[in-house]
Amino acid sequence: MITVIGSINMDLAVETEIFPKQGETVQGSLFKTIPGGKGANQAVAAARLGSKVRMIGAVGNDSFGKELYQNLQNENVDVSGIVMAENSTGIANILLHNRDNRIIVIPGANYDLDKEMIDRNIHHILESKLVMMQLEIPIDTVEYVLAICKKHEIPVLLNPAPAKNFKKEWMNQITFLTPNETECEVIFGDDWEKVLEEYPNKIIVTLGSEGAAFHDGTSIVRIPGFKTTAVDTTGAGDTFNGAFAHAICSGITMNESIHFANIAASLSVEKFGAQGGMPTLDEVYARLG
Ligand code: ADP
Repeated sequence: MITVIGSINMDLAVETEIFPKQGETVQGSLFKTIPGGKGANQAVAAARLGSKVRMIGAVGNDSFGKELYQNLQNENVDVSGIVMAENSTGIANILLHNRDNRIIVIPGANYDLDKEMIDRNIHHILESKLVMMQLEIPIDTVEYVLAICKKHEIPVLLNPAPAKNFKKEWMNQITFLTPNETECEVIFGDDWEKVLEEYPNKIIVTLGSEGAAFHDGTSIVRIPGFKTTAVDTTGAGDTFNGAFAHAICSGITMNESIHFANIAASLSVEKFGAQGGMPTLDEVYARLG
């Protein structure tokens, strides 16, 4: 069982050809609600590949909350660790204009995910093969979970996004850290090859279409991405994380797991939406050959 402890959001995307000036009202061209939140996305990515996934998180007692809960259930994610909290469901307000985007995130119920909720789910956490977290929930909660996992020797995969919330002192409590290049730079500075060497078999830096890299204790290992035509790269990192978690829990090596995750993420960028393109195991196998 993989336990994901993280955010659940509804993305509200508005597309407009004219960007409104202050005080102006314009007519846009599209509105879409899309399930998101890094936690939920990574849970769906692993579940679609056939992993048993349990999600611990919080939504509001509102229509978005109910929809997101249902969506996770439809994706075969165990939702018994999700609560309806006091605040409204987390949302990301995404304004799309001429290939530019402006995003406002309201964490809402995601910030109600507190230590008490972790305590209530402790038996689930203790029976996990892997705990996956990101940084869109209260930092206190992340630290609490890290300490529990360290004490009980439960492997933790931390995707440090947003990177500004990351603390370097957590490094000895983390099994796998999966920053993208920008996050790696924010946390460790711009020489990522040196950083990988410092934390062999622990940091996996994702490099967009170039794939990903880590240090195996001897040298830097670059696992190239699968060349494809990207339609929408939203959620590429989430698919990578969910797929890597699935693969490493199935007992294959780091190299093989990263290759598997690259293939899964390459399939995800071929379709619209973060969860929209997340592949099934058969789709990944077909591309793995
Ligand atoms: P994030 O989405 O978090 O910014 P990256 O851009 O590094 O992270 O992408 C994560 C993974 O998704 C990469 O390691 C790679 O496997 C895959 N990926 C991203 N963009 C592409 C692309 N254009 N073509 C193929 N694979 C991609």
